[in-house]
Amino acid sequence: MSTERIDSSPPPLPVPNSSSLRANRSATIIAVAELRSGSVLRPQRSLDWKTLPVVILSSLILHLIALGLCAMIVLKSPQLIEDIFTTVTDREGNTDPIVEQSLLQPDDLQEKTPQSIVSQESTANLPFDNTGPIDLNISDTLAQIESDSSNIPGLADLKIANETAGRMTAQTKKAMLTKFGGNSASEAAVASGMKWLSNHQLPDGSWSFAHSKHLECKGQCSQDGSFVSCPTGATGMALLAFLGGGHTSHKGDYQRNVKRAVDFLLRSGKPTPTGLDLRGKVIANEGMYVQGLCAIALCECAAMTKDPRVKKGAEGAIDFIVKAQNQADGGWRYRPGEPGDMSVVGWQVMALKSGYNAKLRLPSQVFKGADLFLRKAETAGGSQYVYDPAADKPPSTPTMTAVGLLCRMYLGWDRKNKKLAEGVQYLDKLKPMPNNMYYNYYATQVMHHWGGEEWNRWNEVMRDQLIRTQHPLTDGHLAGSWDVADPHGGAGGRLYMTCLSIMTLEVYYRHLPMYSRETLKVDF
Ligand SMILES: [Zn+2]
Repeated sequence: MSTERIDSSPPPLPVPNSSSLRANRSATIIAVAELRSGSVLRPQRSLDWKTLPVVILSSLILHLIALGLCAMIVLKSPQLIEDIFTTVTDREGNTDPIVEQSLLQPDDLQEKTPQSIVSQESTANLPFDNTGPIDLNISDTLAQIESDSSNIPGLADLKIANETAGRMTAQTKKAMLTKFGGNSASEAAVASGMKWLSNHQLPDGSWSFAHSKHLECKGQCSQDGSFVSCPTGATGMALLAFLGGGHTSHKGDYQRNVKRAVDFLLRSGKPTPTGLDLRGKVIANEGMYVQGLCAIALCECAAMTKDPRVKKGAEGAIDFIVKAQNQADGGWRYRPGEPGDMSVVGWQVMALKSGYNAKLRLPSQVFKGADLFLRKAETAGGSQYVYDPAADKPPSTPTMTAVGLLCRMYLGWDRKNKKLAEGVQYLDKLKPMPNNMYYNYYATQVMHHWGGEEWNRWNEVMRDQLIRTQHPLTDGHLAGSWDVADPHGGAGGRLYMTCLSIMTLEVYYRHLPMYSRETLKVDF
């Protein structure tokens, strides 16, 4: 484990200088108001013909200056403009999660005393500074790319600055599926998986990791998860699978399913002074995993539907995550305020990124804290990651490396980063695993964002493995689901495995590739 910052560490996250921008904008507004009111250029009553050209010229120059100031603001700082005109609460963010190894061990199942939730005020003691909203400045802002896309079916109207744009129409989905290596069989598997999910939604709109309790299933589908009292986590997970395919409460084949699920989450959230608590009845170590999962689902739903009720829930869910961050290492673990582990941190970073995509305002220090944690958890210079950086000589693992690399991508590492390239090569050599969907899920996202030959190699194996291992339509109630193959997949069971598999097969259009959005409208 290396705790020192290295050459390839991410560039400082740019922080918008909102105050100066607002000052400029205010000055511009004042100038324009003065021009309109005539207080600046009001002609004198005794104006003669000799001074008229001077007055006209002066007026012209002042108008051009005012227009220039407006243009500078709009054209040079689109993100800052967005910050100014976006009304949102102070902070929010979060993640989602699933049961990872230690999470489900029997000796973890005893209730521990929850640590007190970290207060927002105590952030003054953070080892990372606290300087206002953040501009992630990653490839999301490549919207300026202009190219003639009129002859590219499905991608002509794609908004490449919109993270979820690819999944939103049948045309863009089909085009991206083809471009990035999906096929009709992978889409059929996704459709079949969603059908299985819809068959196991409970009357109150929720899902359960103990899926076989569904009245129509009645135990026909084996491999219930051991997390039988985690309805918000199971519902968040299933919701993500539907949202990943572009299904919302307003469009698609599962509108009623999605609406009932969203209503269930919003109904289950518990308002607290530290945000919307979606963890439910925390029995073991699943709490912050569940919070993260639900936050991602609500943020994605808010971004896709613009529903103000959902957005408010997303803000509360993210707020809870922000305030649960450990004040010393910048991470998250099972309970709010605990020193972090890479697995829980991964879901929280995904949630924060989803909140960012939903245009929620986020404090910069939460990202700086996450960056600090990643530096603590990195090894091999940042190309690999460990589970618990506080442990004695912790080893890096493939799963934690995949999680860490995806976080690095989201927090600003670009494709020229040498350590990121080494990490991708590491995953490239490991290849998809037959019995570790948690690793496969994260690594697939890393490789998809990276692109190139590495992605092509990875995708052929991953895609066909998932298609091959899904229960076929001839398997009765099991049809469309995936068996638990992971040694540590018992907590989430078949539902967990099926959701991860669906989302992995949605990778082609679920998120736009981070480093190649500019090529989406060309070279197709
Ligand atoms: Zn069933």
